[in-house]
Amino acid sequence: MPEKVEYDQMITVFRTESGQTERVSLEDYVAGVVAGEMPSSFEMEALKAQAVAARTYAISKIQRSGDSGFPKEHPMAALCDSTHCQVYRTPKELLELKSEEWMESGWAKIKEAAEETRGQLMYYQGSLVEQPLFHSSSGGKTENSEDVFVAAVPYLRSVDSPYEQEATHQSEKTFFTWGEFQKKLKSAYPKSNFGTLNANSIKIISRSQGGRVEKIQVGNEVLEGRNIRDACNLYSANFNIERNSSGIEFTTMGYGHGVGMSQWGANGMAENGSDYREILTHYYSGVEIY
Ligand SMILES: [Zn+2]
Repeated sequence: MPEKVEYDQMITVFRTESGQTERVSLEDYVAGVVAGEMPSSFEMEALKAQAVAARTYAISKIQRSGDSGFPKEHPMAALCDSTHCQVYRTPKELLELKSEEWMESGWAKIKEAAEETRGQLMYYQGSLVEQPLFHSSSGGKTENSEDVFVAAVPYLRSVDSPYEQEATHQSEKTFFTWGEFQKKLKSAYPKSNFGTLNANSIKIISRSQGGRVEKIQVGNEVLEGRNIRDACNLYSANFNIERNSSGIEFTTMGYGHGVGMSQWGANGMAENGSDYREILTHYYSGVEIY
């Protein structure tokens, strides 16, 4: 077994609102990220999986910035407290956002999830996992990393995510008239010439293994599904289309980019008896946790 990564017990976080850095213990930081990224009502094993993912992300980012320097977005620290890195909240901020009652129940539960996985990180073939990506829900199947982003990452493979029945935004319908749709595309892609858009000029050409739209014909242009997702603010690029003379309706499955751990899928697995290690090794292919 490769040597366990050693890390400083205190880490530095750049606070976006104050523009200052703060020193915080790693485990308090991990709990503050879980509170920022997952509802405390989720199952304990799902919270623990999120805690290991959050800790792994943090340590990996700190290690990498030792080689390549701090990110240009926050040159004072390896980590910030926003979605740029991971959302992090202090107990004081959580008390303001939530309630005293929540601190006694939800926060206590989240602290326990961090504590019970204290120091544990994910490794792939002996190296620390650099991209423990997660999303809200996949729509039934997660994505290969290269189908959504650029690089093929060996532990970010498309896997089934069968327990998302309780997920929010599982199936969402969004309708645009042809005029509205044309306007959205025009503002996202001002240099493109789509031509006239109507029921006959739109066609899904190909899909990824996880079900997201890869290529879609839009008038004279071919776009990627995620281009449509961004331009039209859809919940995901995993969608079906229905069109008629007045416009186009998208039905999206899941919420988010679909790569790595599905949070709702993790909660569903926990409800069905899986522990956090089973959840993590399901969504991150071939990883080890220690
Ligand atoms: Zn950041």
